Amino acid sequence: MRIDELDLKLIYILMDNSRLSISELAERLGVSRPTVKSRLEKLEREEIIQGYTIKLNPKLLRAHNVVALIVKTNEPDKMREFEEIIEINRFTSRKYLIKIAVESMEELRKVIEGAGFEVIEIMPILETVERKSPPKVKVPFKCDYCGKEIVGEPIVYKYRNRVYFFCCPTCFREFKKTRENIEKFKLKEEKEGSTHEGHSH
Ligand SMILES: [Zn+2]
Repeated sequence: MRIDELDLKLIYILMDNSRLSISELAERLGVSRPTVKSRLEKLEREEIIQGYTIKLNPKLLRAHNVVALIVKTNEPDKMREFEEIIEINRFTSRKYLIKIAVESMEELRKVIEGAGFEVIEIMPILETVERKSPPKVKVPFKCDYCGKEIVGEPIVYKYRNRVYFFCCPTCFREFKKTRENIEKFKLKEEKEGSTHEGHSH
């Protein structure tokens, strides 16, 4: 999979909000709409982006009790028949770590018996913390302040519909300071300009 800096920036922005329009994406990245369009088409065609999804309120998912089990089974295909089984991780050809979401212990027993599991260990899951994992790809990615290559997680900053990426908190702070000064200067210029011309916009 070959992706470059622009692809990766696009991915970061979409991971935060996948409903942005082509125009909004182009604005945030400071590139043209056709560029965004062709990049998106490429990322979809090469199945780097495999879909756009929604984020559901965790309360809706917490309606069930989730239990993790280490099981042995001779018929792993049978697991597919049970929609209560929400996650399947294989250790060996017979041994699995699975998660089952059920309303009651009775329901859990039915799934275990129905799937023909030999239960090795059973653990209730008390809390699930959703973690947003950034793409695990190495792309030389430049800091928008110092121009150095970003190692690890970039700091993503939205400013006036543009998105900037920084290597460290210092660059981010300095960038903001510089921007604020430019803003102040512009405001001052506009004010002075309008008094000279004798009218304002
Ligand atoms: Zn930097």
